[in-house]
Amino acid sequence: MTRSRTPKKTLLIFFLIWMSGILGWSQNKPFDVGNPLEVAPALSGNYGELRPNHFHGGLDIKTGGQEGLNVHTVESGYVSRIKISPYGYGKAVYVTHPNGYTTVYGHLRALNDSIARYTKRIQYEQKSFAVDVYPGENDLHVLKGDIIAFSGNTGGSGGPHLHFEVRETETEVPRNPLLFQFPLNDSKRPIIESVAIKPLDRGGNISGSTTGRHYRATANSISSNGAITIEGDFGIEVSGYDHQDGSGNKNGIYKIEAFIDEQRFAAFTADSIPFSQSRFLNALIDYEYYYQKHVRFIRLYRLPGNILENVTYKQNGRLSPEDGGHTIRVIAKDVSGNSSEVEFEVDFKKLADTPEQKQEMIRWNGDYYFETDEHQLHIPKGAIYRDEAANILDGEDFIEVLNSRIPLQKSIQIKIKSTIEQEGELIARVTKDGRPIRALQTRREGEWLIAESRSFGRFGISHDQTKPQIKSVNFRSGSRLSTREVVFQIKDNLSGIESFRVLANNQWILAEYDPKRARLSFFTDDLPKSPEAQELMVEVIDMARNVATFEGTFINP
Ligand SMILES: [Zn+2]
Repeated sequence: MTRSRTPKKTLLIFFLIWMSGILGWSQNKPFDVGNPLEVAPALSGNYGELRPNHFHGGLDIKTGGQEGLNVHTVESGYVSRIKISPYGYGKAVYVTHPNGYTTVYGHLRALNDSIARYTKRIQYEQKSFAVDVYPGENDLHVLKGDIIAFSGNTGGSGGPHLHFEVRETETEVPRNPLLFQFPLNDSKRPIIESVAIKPLDRGGNISGSTTGRHYRATANSISSNGAITIEGDFGIEVSGYDHQDGSGNKNGIYKIEAFIDEQRFAAFTADSIPFSQSRFLNALIDYEYYYQKHVRFIRLYRLPGNILENVTYKQNGRLSPEDGGHTIRVIAKDVSGNSSEVEFEVDFKKLADTPEQKQEMIRWNGDYYFETDEHQLHIPKGAIYRDEAANILDGEDFIEVLNSRIPLQKSIQIKIKSTIEQEGELIARVTKDGRPIRALQTRREGEWLIAESRSFGRFGISHDQTKPQIKSVNFRSGSRLSTREVVFQIKDNLSGIESFRVLANNQWILAEYDPKRARLSFFTDDLPKSPEAQELMVEVIDMARNVATFEGTFINP
């Protein structure tokens, strides 16, 4: 027996070594990631931190509440991508290095001269502020330490900081920069704040509660009134945070491991989370609890539709031990080796029998269709993470689909019949009294209005017939321009701003839009010079295709 096995085993080992060489398994290609700023790094966000609908893909490095700090490339290479957008990373520069990694710098206020010139040329070519360009290997070379940009607060940023990422160039998977010698001191241990125990069998309970129980963590255990008794299979959830030296921000935990009677049943690691999996965060956290209480508990058991690869489980983290007493231990670790843990006892009993499921269910791994004369609904396969009760309310002028406490991985499609075409018509998510809370991008096909939604709720037809607002902040028509920048405030009441443009004497002018400040601005330097009065036109269009224009004249000698 042994003799016949050994060669196979040896072959397998050789094969694995050979494969790991090819795929670069288990070992990072070496990369000493330096500090892109001149100030000592302090983090307002770390890698893998739990954010709305995604894991944070990099580090948020503090800039002392200021904008305009020099941003240096941490390694030589070439600028491989420049993405400018009113949303997301705002102004972002990607630098590809010969070592197999690409670093990303986001929310920038401005780019260095040569990168800015390159970008502006393309913005004028495409007549668009938002651009996504991929310069060639020989276009924009940079050397380690070069100033490539200036820090800012552009895009979806909630305050001045630098968003910094390290990605594998080949796969574009963002890695945890702290695993690459990033110069940051961390002597603080991660904090476990609370533990939740959830019944996973229908009819199960935790100390009498069929929805589960939450317990505050103490120094090394959890606080509960008396023994924790469990009936039926169960799962564990954890909430907490970590922080590093030099900052009081509550950041994410790098690693969480959970054990039952010293057998590991779940492990979460904040590294190598591909963007294509990032939204599965909504399956990892107890979304309903988060929706109601704004605290994120990480489930240490897997919902069927959760494909995240940075979490591993034994039996999907579903705990089904022998009847009797058991010890649960949860440990949280950071990259620097600091850790904290809680341990507690539970008294488990198998459930005698599970009650029958009486409600109609929507299967997570199948398509679901609903149709009446007035409404049609399609929930695609894989849109939800587990089976959900088919709670659909077909009202006279609305359709209610489940509720917004249930997360969606993919969009659902809603069709509402509307025989007469009306101006500004759109499908919106509405309140119980029919008030629109969110307009959806809507199209018409024959008698049907069609829209996709990434959240459940109540949907109905709304109308946006109101033009966006354009208000001058420092532009006075007929006057000589005296400021470096011309600023307008632009807003829309419901559907949101779809596009904008600024024309001077009918020529397109580069203007910048910052939605969080409702600010549209452009530089006086970009306007044509003349002692004569020239024409200015600002046009803003909303999603319901209402067009607003502002016209005036200026003198720019
Ligand atoms: Zn960030």
